[in-house]
Amino acid sequence: MSSQSCPMSGMAGGQCPAGSVAGRGRAGSRMGPRGCSFSGYSQPGDIHAAFDIPRGVDAEEWLRMRERKTINDVLYNNIPSVREISGIENLDSLNASEHDLLAVALGAPARQVMIRAEQIGPQSGWKDGYLSAEHGFCPPDYNDSPGALSNSPGRIWSDLCERMPGAVSRGRARESIASLPIVEGSADVIPDRALWAAVVVLGILCSMYRWEDKHDGNEGITVNATKYKPNCEMGDDLGDELVGIPRSIALPYFQVSRRLGRSIPHLTFVDQSSYNMKIRDASSTYPYVARFDNMDMRWPIFGERTEVAFLKGCAETSASFQHGADAIASCQEHVMNRNIEGLLREMVRLKEILERMPNAFHSINPNPNSGENYVPGHQWVRWAKFSAPLSKRCPASSGLQFPPYLVMDAFLGRKKYESFLGAEGLHLRAWLPSNLRAFIASIDYHYRIPEFVKQSGDPRLMGVLDGIVEAYTGERGFMGTHRYKVFGLLEIAGKTGRSETNGASGATDPNGKPWEETHKQFSEAMKERLAPYRGDITVEPHEMRGTFEECRYRARVLNRSFIDRDPDRSISMVTLDIQNTGITFQPGDRLAIMPLNSWTECAKVAAALGLADYLNDPVSLTPKWERFAQHLGSVSHTPTPQLTVKDILRRGHLAPITKNLALKIHDLLQASSNTVLQVLATTEWPIRGSLGDLLQGAVADTSPHIWDRAFDLRGNLSWLADLVPIEIPRTYSISNHCQELLPSTVDLTISRAEYKLCSTFAGNEDVSCAGVGSGFLNPFLSSSDELIETEEDILVGISRPLNFQLPFDRTAPCAYFAGGSGVSPFRSFWQARAATRNHASGKDILYLGVQSRDKFCYEDELREYVEAGLMEVHLAFSRDTRGLVYDRRHQDLVEREMPTRYIDTLIVEQGAAISELVMSKRQGGLGGYLYVCGSVAIFDSVMNGIRKAIYNHCSATMETSEMIINKAFAERRFMLDVFMTPKPLPCNLPTIPLSQLARHTGHRPSTRMWIGVHGSAYDVTDFSPMHPGGIFIIKSNAGVDCSKSFDNLAHTNNSEVNSLLTKYFVGHLTPKPEFHSCPELSDIYDLWAGYLRTTVETLVAHQFEMHEIMGASDDGTKDFYLRGTENIWSREHMSNIGQGVRMFYQYQSRLLQGGFAALFGPKLQELVLKLSFTLADAANVGTDMRLPDVLGIIARAKTSPEAIATSQEVAQVGQFVCENSSNARFAERGIFNYAAKSVELDIELLEDIREEACHGMDAFESVMAMEASDDTQRLTVLTTFLIQTLERMAKRLEMFYAKLAQHKVYQPEIERNPARTRWNLVRRKIHDGSFFILTQEAVLGAAPAYVPAQHQHSGVDFESVMSRIQATIRGAAKPGPAPQTLNAIQIARASTPPGETNAMATYENNSAMRAMSSFLDKNARSIRRLSKMPPMPMSFEQLQAAVEHHQHHEGRVGRPPTPPSSRGSSIPPAFRGRTMVPVAQGLHRTDSGSRAPSLERMMATAQNGRLLQRRTSQRSMSGANMGHRTRSPPMPHVDAATALNTMMGKLNVRSRGNSNPPPPAMSAMSVNSERTRLGRTMSVRSTSQQHSMHGPTMSTSSLRTFRLPSVGADRGRVKIAPTF
Ligand SMILES: Cc1cc2nc3c(=O)[nH]c(=O)nc-3n(C[C@H](O)[C@H](O)[C@H](O)COP(=O)(O)OP(=O)(O)OC[C@H]3O[C@@H](n4cnc5c(N)ncnc54)[C@H](O)[C@@H]3O)c2cc1C
Repeated sequence: MSSQSCPMSGMAGGQCPAGSVAGRGRAGSRMGPRGCSFSGYSQPGDIHAAFDIPRGVDAEEWLRMRERKTINDVLYNNIPSVREISGIENLDSLNASEHDLLAVALGAPARQVMIRAEQIGPQSGWKDGYLSAEHGFCPPDYNDSPGALSNSPGRIWSDLCERMPGAVSRGRARESIASLPIVEGSADVIPDRALWAAVVVLGILCSMYRWEDKHDGNEGITVNATKYKPNCEMGDDLGDELVGIPRSIALPYFQVSRRLGRSIPHLTFVDQSSYNMKIRDASSTYPYVARFDNMDMRWPIFGERTEVAFLKGCAETSASFQHGADAIASCQEHVMNRNIEGLLREMVRLKEILERMPNAFHSINPNPNSGENYVPGHQWVRWAKFSAPLSKRCPASSGLQFPPYLVMDAFLGRKKYESFLGAEGLHLRAWLPSNLRAFIASIDYHYRIPEFVKQSGDPRLMGVLDGIVEAYTGERGFMGTHRYKVFGLLEIAGKTGRSETNGASGATDPNGKPWEETHKQFSEAMKERLAPYRGDITVEPHEMRGTFEECRYRARVLNRSFIDRDPDRSISMVTLDIQNTGITFQPGDRLAIMPLNSWTECAKVAAALGLADYLNDPVSLTPKWERFAQHLGSVSHTPTPQLTVKDILRRGHLAPITKNLALKIHDLLQASSNTVLQVLATTEWPIRGSLGDLLQGAVADTSPHIWDRAFDLRGNLSWLADLVPIEIPRTYSISNHCQELLPSTVDLTISRAEYKLCSTFAGNEDVSCAGVGSGFLNPFLSSSDELIETEEDILVGISRPLNFQLPFDRTAPCAYFAGGSGVSPFRSFWQARAATRNHASGKDILYLGVQSRDKFCYEDELREYVEAGLMEVHLAFSRDTRGLVYDRRHQDLVEREMPTRYIDTLIVEQGAAISELVMSKRQGGLGGYLYVCGSVAIFDSVMNGIRKAIYNHCSATMETSEMIINKAFAERRFMLDVFMTPKPLPCNLPTIPLSQLARHTGHRPSTRMWIGVHGSAYDVTDFSPMHPGGIFIIKSNAGVDCSKSFDNLAHTNNSEVNSLLTKYFVGHLTPKPEFHSCPELSDIYDLWAGYLRTTVETLVAHQFEMHEIMGASDDGTKDFYLRGTENIWSREHMSNIGQGVRMFYQYQSRLLQGGFAALFGPKLQELVLKLSFTLADAANVGTDMRLPDVLGIIARAKTSPEAIATSQEVAQVGQFVCENSSNARFAERGIFNYAAKSVELDIELLEDIREEACHGMDAFESVMAMEASDDTQRLTVLTTFLIQTLERMAKRLEMFYAKLAQHKVYQPEIERNPARTRWNLVRRKIHDGSFFILTQEAVLGAAPAYVPAQHQHSGVDFESVMSRIQATIRGAAKPGPAPQTLNAIQIARASTPPGETNAMATYENNSAMRAMSSFLDKNARSIRRLSKMPPMPMSFEQLQAAVEHHQHHEGRVGRPPTPPSSRGSSIPPAFRGRTMVPVAQGLHRTDSGSRAPSLERMMATAQNGRLLQRRTSQRSMSGANMGHRTRSPPMPHVDAATALNTMMGKLNVRSRGNSNPPPPAMSAMSVNSERTRLGRTMSVRSTSQQHSMHGPTMSTSSLRTFRLPSVGADRGRVKIAPTF
């Protein structure tokens, strides 16, 4: 047969794979022109295996024969037998429908669309859009269209695009665009082949022109900037989109857009990313061509890191779906042909493609060490503004438009598009190129794969489809990963200048912060996608993590094998049967398992509760159990089962005992059980024991009628489901690799977690127990569970850690570090790597630490690998001198006597080789991949060893070793699978106040970074470089409680995160004091805590933006420093287009223009409002009351001459950057210097404000600890203190401007050419007539020293405060209706001026505005009353005066002692029992020497001069050689019911109908007294939490004396440069 004719149609001219077509591989040519189904012909690999072709048969011929099948062969291949149709009269239904006949005759629609595209595309410049089997939605040749453009007159556009980043930096984009000649975009000038490139470059130029025009080339503060006036013809007549754009680009853009089928010109996200790339090596196809590391951006717009990394990352995400289109078309073909096996194969292929996609997200990395992948969030702001649509009619530029998403939505049969993102996606779909729309329609409307799978009833197909759903839109799949990635990036961007996100969520959103809102919108879209498979989902996707919802498959335990010589089998290989489930897995994957409780534990509970006869009775369920039952039904594709007592006992959480569980029992038993009381008195939770143990004890010491009332057996047993929560899944690394399409078994390496039963239950005995999960999978050999045969299915699920996978590159060497059962995932690694080994493959080296030879797992298997030369194995035995040494020459493990050692010693010994593996290729190392698996202790030991190894071999200091390791982490070559069983945490440690947490932001060298999570503080300093999301993501939460983010990111349910956290635990956070009788105090507490949080977040955000400036040297002559890192001050040897100055200019402009919006805007005003009101109300004073003029000071500071002077300096920096004037370039070094000084002053101010806020925060706890006649008195004292603290903050702002005003850009003495600098200034000043001022300035070199302005007023009255606030509210721009479409959002975002405050500050301030407005409305009458009232005796001034008077007479005021508490006090020991130093009223000023306020003093005054009393608290204290795999010894199995009965015979059983009096120890009286005792204990639990103790690191003593240091006087302290 000719290679030019089609086997099916016989047509000549087609490119048919059946003929061995010259010049084209199989992959590129899989179809005859009429779409004959050469199913998956392009599939790489063994074609015989792929198509079940008998060996020895010519594959092509065989396939051709198959494809020559007639329609009858396809559609009439299973006509029922004669017997089956004998009784049926009408057999019409046996005839195929015309629809099917036609479809088979024509071929699968998706394939048809693809074939047409492939045929026409190359000739037409892919006008209809890129679509092909081999390249998916990507261009087959990324150079083709740009090459064609550069050979056409359109080259002038692409040439200009190449100059764009430099031109934009110099503010010259418009000028260069306007000077272009007109070249038309018609077919005679621009060939079809050049169209895509033309539309990209022209789109970029138009958008760039608009962007620069929006703010006239200035991106910050400007003074007297000259406006640019273009002198060219405009494209106004070409539609709204091109109004105000020079005709030189408008006209061709209009023309080429139309030729590409775009009714109006617009720039899509795909244009900016996918079609704007160059491929480095087109032959590097594994696993796909357009990988981040194989691409460069062709026409960067700003040339900034963020833009490049972000657009490349997006292009990669889409490109990673390269073969997805072909897989989908093949699926459809198989559906058409009813070919189940073929469909299965293609679905698995599609699943693997989807599972790989999230990896592309790695390329967008917010980790500063990650080289070209680094995406600094703040730079995003600029780029986001650039991409605004050209008119209201244009489709928005959004990632939603990437074809893979829209295609997958259609493939999976998404029906709902009601969410904001859903509707936008649908809208954008209509703007896709025609080929893509046709392809989507072909799968949306024809031969829907999910429907066929469902009808087939084939469990494998259903399982694989479920896997596809999960991989695409599941929590751990592509959409879930995307959601988390976006959250972190948006959080940083939102805190550093971005005002809106791409979802409809912006700073105006009243419900949540923008990134939280976007997170919710993604969740809505995910739920819509999941709806066809999971119905209406009532929980948020992240709430499903770490729960049964993740276990969507059923499996059974098949085998438990010995894998070492330990006779107890404490580590076992457990094999599960997953036949026909459709599960597939990769090396590194984990299996989540819902464990079943041991029969012994079930028996204990059943016996105590009297449930032995009710095991199969149904139980009335709680909503959560109900959801579990539905889940069971959906997983087994059956109706929802009725759960029984046995189900609850087997699948509920029985151990360990949580406080919640113990309290529930305590309540049910009406506080009558001694055992329960004993348990509750513990200081560590959870308790090492089970519900069964607790009930066994309690049943013996509780009165039967209480017991019977608590556990009523007559009803629907709803209490059981209420008492026992559902168990959560356990995670185990998968230990085997499978080459088959669908594996039938999965191996796990299970180490039994053993612990000693707590003494309350065990008494003096030493009772060993096994953990729930590991005990279920690998029970004690003596346990009955080993013998009981269970018919129950266990639920399992697969999860793929993105950061624990083998490298794609098979040549990369891999080192595996493991301890004990940590070897588990590595078995799958070495099996997989060995299966694909060739001569070029990188090494596989295992470093294993175990106790002894007997516990060396998988020895036989490893020896085989070593002997075959496939692996190196190095061992450390910690308790055995019978060592094993790897002999490289003989490829053997040789026995040798050697000292015992841990893994770190082994690593140091092998240090030279390991260091090479750690070092990146750029550092001259091997750039190896390193994996650590095991407990946290192993992890520590491994890291210590590696640090030392690098120090010994490659670095001069330990810091450098650390940096080398961090680099490997950032390059994602260092991967961890660290797990530990969580350890119980003590609850009697000193607690940590919020202020102490706030001070731990870790932004200066050698300082620590803490985070707060669900009531506990963690020191994450050492962990942050390893954080998979990047160091900045963690840093953005430094010093604050980040529980909400933790929940949103599913960290709370993540066992991995939780177990790691216990390692970094510092203590519990001091809870909010209970202000029961004073809600106002509670409100003010919340408000102040919110403000403190803002101060911390602002400080942290500062370092995101400015850290590079702080650490960079200012050698503006080189683009790279000697040490090889990028010089942020210079680019292309020009410092004004470097990033440093621009970053500073934009940041400082925003700061100054917004007047520190986050700290001194409405949020602070809200505090002033509420404090003033509270004071006035509590003191019941009138117009004469003088309040600190906080708002006045701020307003004056912002408009002071010093503030104006600072703005002018920044404007000069702007001139330098935006080149509106050439003057600034003569002050180049002065500008660098000015930037560095300003940044340091900024940070000082932010630190000071935080410190003041901390003072205020501490005051709450102390005021509660003081003796006061009533809460009103406390309130008065506290509000007085707080408002004075605010005044001090305002003064710090005043000081800041004054200090900053002393610094100047003009410093000729430090310039390289001082004379030129001076001369330029003289010339300029002569020119503008200010020469005499110049001489003075030039001589003095700086402004006169700052003299703080004296106070004009000593305070303001209440009415003035109120009217100022009312004026602010009236004057505030009313937020308009939120934009409803993406287009509107992007236009709004682009219109915000460059100095706009960041999203977080805007959000906070909007909320504050709303709160103030409603507060004023609500309290309008009181405010009117208080404003008009005559003066009362206790005015603010009088209060202060009385204090002075009192101190004068009484001397020092005694400090109230801290009440006793089980948690201890948060007051530092140094201050306990100390007397208070009285301090005078007012604020310290450098000039006046006035002193800070003292809370105690105020309190004393408020009590009319009485000395504060020591308060005595009423609160009390709360108190065999098995070296090869063998099956476990065969034992006779017993059934569960028999086993249970036998067990229960030996247990405490509920006494039925027995009304015996309670045992003597628990007589009625003692029960009552116990109850009272417990009641007290319980109340202590809450109240004691108010009184906490500082941890050892609590430092600033002045906090506790309520003496505020003077403003400005504290700057003498030693300064250290920030770390960042
Ligand atoms: C990513 C990952 C991979 C893993 N891979 C493996 C593997 O390959 N092989 C392997 O053997 N194990 C592995 N594990 C550990 C495994 O998931 C279980 O943690 C381990 O088997 C113990 O679970 P268990 O149910 O037996 O113990 P549990 O019943 O959960 O408890 C055991 C111990 O922990 C204490 N404890 C339990 N819950 C708490 C709590 N909330 N707070 C404080 N203390 C508590 C108990 O008191 C007891 O001392 C892995 C863990 C993770 C996170």
